[in-house]
Amino acid sequence: MIKLQPFFFALAATFGLSFLSAGHADVLVSDQQRFAYHNKQIEVGPNQYRQYQIQLGLNDTLEVYVEIQSGRFTDLTVMVCPADQVEDYLAGNSAVCFGSVKQRNLIQFDYVVPQDGLYSVVIDNTHAAVTNKTARFITYRKWQLDEETTNNTRAVYAMLYDALDGVFIYPDFDIFVNSCADDVLFLPAKKGSIRMCSELAFPLMRDEQLAGLYGDFFHEFGHSMLGFWGVPEADSDKRADEFVVYIFYLIGREDLALGFAEYIEVQTLNPQANAVWYHGSRHPKPAQRARSIRRTLRSPAAVMSSLNGIIYPHLTQDVLNEIIADPEPFGDPALARQYLDE
Ligand SMILES: [Zn+2]
Repeated sequence: MIKLQPFFFALAATFGLSFLSAGHADVLVSDQQRFAYHNKQIEVGPNQYRQYQIQLGLNDTLEVYVEIQSGRFTDLTVMVCPADQVEDYLAGNSAVCFGSVKQRNLIQFDYVVPQDGLYSVVIDNTHAAVTNKTARFITYRKWQLDEETTNNTRAVYAMLYDALDGVFIYPDFDIFVNSCADDVLFLPAKKGSIRMCSELAFPLMRDEQLAGLYGDFFHEFGHSMLGFWGVPEADSDKRADEFVVYIFYLIGREDLALGFAEYIEVQTLNPQANAVWYHGSRHPKPAQRARSIRRTLRSPAAVMSSLNGIIYPHLTQDVLNEIIADPEPFGDPALARQYLDE
């Protein structure tokens, strides 16, 4: 369950209450979540087995796919067992396991979890005396999101949207929060609607990682805004990340810009993030993004000034006035004055 209270404080502290306004975003959080867990090539030698553990909750569904790739006459046994029963299963004793015995080619089944606990997926080649097997192994955990997490997630994104609504002028759009491993489309969506991957968002909310939470949102928001404003680079991830850095500077939180670069760097180690790329995220691999963000942070002036020209025509009057009265480090009061209403 994701608690909300710290976010209200953190958000208020980040933006200052003066930036908050009444927005109109519909935030749609899917209550059916489906995360990819394992997604790898595996190799199991003769008389061997492999096991992969996963923590599951009551009534979750674990979807298991094993596609055997080596040779026409190969087979594997794939079992899901409570972790403490694997030993009994392997010893041939009685064990409450569920799966598919000596199946060829594609093994695919769903396991409905009978109680909370640690489970093992056992890929068993112990029946084979000489044949080595290679396979593609993928699992998904599908579960029902609890109401409190659904509501809190909705509140966090509505608040981020409202905060930016006080900074920029743009048409309404929707925010979808769902598993990026799931290809379900939520249509019809308003033009410019964005999708936040719950695989990434939930851990960020749980751990109160504001730099990553805001940065991911600003990145998607950046694609959307630049598109609304007719900027040709709207689809560029580099530009969207520059937009992230820009907003952090605009709200006086350079520390979060640095935190965002660090967050993107560690994504290379995050299995959930890997699952998101696998399922066709348009974002390039994080190492490349992190390098580019670091480069922007080392010498921000040129990027900031080119974005001033793109963004100032779309700032609210309140923010233009603030830039004139008290410019942030890369603010341009003379340019801001050009967009003030008479
Ligand atoms: Zn992107």
